[in-house]
Amino acid sequence: MTYQLIISNANYYLADHFFTGDILVADGRIAGIVSPGAAKDLPAERVIDATGLTVLPGIIDSHVHFREPGRTDREDFFTGSCAAAAGGVTTFCEMPNAFPPPNCPQNLRDRIAMADEKAIVDFAFLGAAGFGNIPQFQPLLDMGVVAFKTFLDSPPKGREAEFEGLTVADDSELYLMLEAAAKTDGRFFFHCENSPLIKGLEKHLHQLGQEANSFHYLSRPAVAEVQSVETLLRFARATGAKVGIVHITVPESCRLVRQAKAEGVDVVAETCFQYLNYHHGHIDQYGPYAKCNPPLRSREDMEGLWEYLLDGTITMIGSDHAPLTMEEKTIGEQEGIWKAFSGFPGVEVMLPVMLTQVNAGRLTLPQLVRLMSENTARLYGMFSRKGIIQPGADADFAIVDMQREYTLSIDKMYSKSKAINKLFDGQKVKGKPVYTIVRGRTLMEDGVVDTSSRGYGCFVAAQR
Ligand SMILES: [Zn+2]
Repeated sequence: MTYQLIISNANYYLADHFFTGDILVADGRIAGIVSPGAAKDLPAERVIDATGLTVLPGIIDSHVHFREPGRTDREDFFTGSCAAAAGGVTTFCEMPNAFPPPNCPQNLRDRIAMADEKAIVDFAFLGAAGFGNIPQFQPLLDMGVVAFKTFLDSPPKGREAEFEGLTVADDSELYLMLEAAAKTDGRFFFHCENSPLIKGLEKHLHQLGQEANSFHYLSRPAVAEVQSVETLLRFARATGAKVGIVHITVPESCRLVRQAKAEGVDVVAETCFQYLNYHHGHIDQYGPYAKCNPPLRSREDMEGLWEYLLDGTITMIGSDHAPLTMEEKTIGEQEGIWKAFSGFPGVEVMLPVMLTQVNAGRLTLPQLVRLMSENTARLYGMFSRKGIIQPGADADFAIVDMQREYTLSIDKMYSKSKAINKLFDGQKVKGKPVYTIVRGRTLMEDGVVDTSSRGYGCFVAAQR
């Protein structure tokens, strides 16, 4: 037989260790791993010599917003997935805010069809969950959503359609929703920030005439997250629901999560790479281009977050890839940072930024693999099809050159909204994704994405 792909002399990750071997790929799956050099004379459509490189399981981004359907002027499943491939990401997990949101099986089916037509890498979906669509929880789970996401507030004014079935308005709705959630085997993630507190602080700061970039983090203090996390954990304990916190940012929130876990609450925490690498100083410097919610925290909080990353309190790292148009950022320069939209598209820079931290000794490569692939695959019901290099698994790889130093550049990015990525542009990194391979097909080689693979990506349903 002719193999689809052979990766020779692969230094590859498996179960906390690195081994060397030749990886054989057939029909999109890993067919076998033989000792280095043993595959030399086997026929293959393509051979990649991985000498000097490191072969990781494909990165799974736990948190992206690719904006389709509804805001394809910002991003769509094609451009977003090209950005993913550029950054070593082989599977993305799409969040449920969209027009319309995936709050029922029909909307989810439509969304899967759109991604199926356009995405070049594989994809999974979180379902929309809120007080208003409790009867849809089980039907969405039956369709294979990996989890749910909910906002702890009424929909933002003018964006009601985007948030239909995605919100709980108050504690009573949260409690009732979690009671219903507990009757399913789904996991329910929350954006934890105390909205009434934030709105009040915004009003107060406006009265003071606060127009500086610091307005953003002064109006969203750490305690707004901590208090919200505390409430969620108490309600999860009372109802028995399986919960999660997306983009956790504050060490004190993590301490509460660690304690709740020890006491038997079924909770997981995700953080995003920006909260481990950027801080208030970046908001002061970059203004709207460093604005995201929750905000980048103080340098002390950023440093403190690492403790909980390394001790296992935090389960996974995502990008919260949030593309926006240039106008949605420049308005913040003209009229004050509070006018700018929140977020930036990070899916293609997350891996090199975190590899740089591996090279700096902040975390080990096995820790990175667990946080950015293996743990996510396990939590989202994709293991052991995804998240592991072993025979039978999908042949998804992020092959990286740990020694390669280069400069992140907007010019080399694929996101439709790359122009707003001033926070990353010009940043020096060490550790470069040089091949992205999904089910045996090479979708990125040395930073160049195979844009002819539109529609190659497949829906990954959670196995429960
Ligand atoms: Zn998000």
